[in-house]
Amino acid sequence: MKTIFHIDMDAFFVSVEELLDPSLKGKPVIVGGKGTERGVVSAASYEARKYGIHSAMPLRTAHQLCPHAIFLDGHMHLYKEYSDKVETVLRSFSPLVDMASIDEAYMDMTGCERLWGPPLQAAHRLHEAITAKTNLNSSIGISTSRLVSKIASDQAKRNGILWIVPGTEANWLAPLEVKRIPGVGKVTEKQLATIGIKRIRDLAQLDERFLLDRFGKWGLALAGKAQGKDAGGWFDSEIGSNDDPKSISHEHTFTEDTADYKQLRATLVRLCEKVMKRLRDHGFHARTVQLKLRFEGFETITRAKSLGDPTDIDRDVIEAILNLFDTNWPKGRKVRLLGVHVSQFTDQAPQPSLLTGEADSKWRAALKATDKLKDKYGEGTLHLGGALKGVYKDRVHEAAPKDPIKKPNQ
Ligand SMILES: [Mg+2]
Repeated sequence: MKTIFHIDMDAFFVSVEELLDPSLKGKPVIVGGKGTERGVVSAASYEARKYGIHSAMPLRTAHQLCPHAIFLDGHMHLYKEYSDKVETVLRSFSPLVDMASIDEAYMDMTGCERLWGPPLQAAHRLHEAITAKTNLNSSIGISTSRLVSKIASDQAKRNGILWIVPGTEANWLAPLEVKRIPGVGKVTEKQLATIGIKRIRDLAQLDERFLLDRFGKWGLALAGKAQGKDAGGWFDSEIGSNDDPKSISHEHTFTEDTADYKQLRATLVRLCEKVMKRLRDHGFHARTVQLKLRFEGFETITRAKSLGDPTDIDRDVIEAILNLFDTNWPKGRKVRLLGVHVSQFTDQAPQPSLLTGEADSKWRAALKATDKLKDKYGEGTLHLGGALKGVYKDRVHEAAPKDPIKKPNQ
């Protein structure tokens, strides 16, 4: 039987902002940009949430709901710094840590009793250590599975610890709403509601066969989850072994829709560079690239291309993406959002090609050098040409729904 902790920082971005400016405390604060801008809310303080504001909501909507809220651009590099501090504390308690996103992590604490005491005591020590190192509040859920620990940390908010004693998982889950299950979004929630399933208890009583017929594999996973098991996709993997995303993507929403060819291309180059940096951090090569194009008025298309040989070199992906863009962008049509997505990973480099082998190794050497600088000084510091005009403000959510590292496979 395992002992799994889920650690979730409380209102992370906003709390870091409060460290910078304590006068923000207790006020409705929104991180993500100005209330008149087109982007979305990255994070909202508890005070702001009382007005119904939540992350991923358009900034303008947030502004309508709470005109007197304080809107901040945010300090991504600082959030990253604090996130790293948290991770360092976690790793001093157990070597098996998965940072699921910038502000949450899973830890396998199985067998750590001798060092840190029984689970609840260990959690209190950990909680204290996080506060001591960061001055930030966090919540910790403890159970025998990732799933239950994640739900528990949410129920433990704010600044709390909740331990679901082994054997009581299903009972504890029973009265909770199905949307508490990670991965159950609005769509699944609605589908379940149409067949009268509102609570996890209702779900647990359904026949697995029925769920399989109705929802396919996701239905089977749901059946397991309702029992408090780490069923399905990403939740099945071992903590510490799964730093491997299945795909990596970055997107950019323009503040104003644009049809400026140069700007669009430069932005794509920049997105490719970010995606490829992360790909190399994981030691992967990607075989498929995908372009996402959202036009003025929200019509969205995605176009994918297989590269033949898997690659970890920016050049290859940039070439493919720009090609996709050129063939799919109706000239002059205004674009609202661009996205670059790579998938189908291998962790092995392909055989060096006779044609491009030498150029490839030069590229790799150059990329290695820039990656190092980026690690040291941050993503925004260095671009390999082309991307300069695409410099823009990054929009990252505390719990980025698209983050492949976080998202459980359905
Ligand atoms: Mg959080």
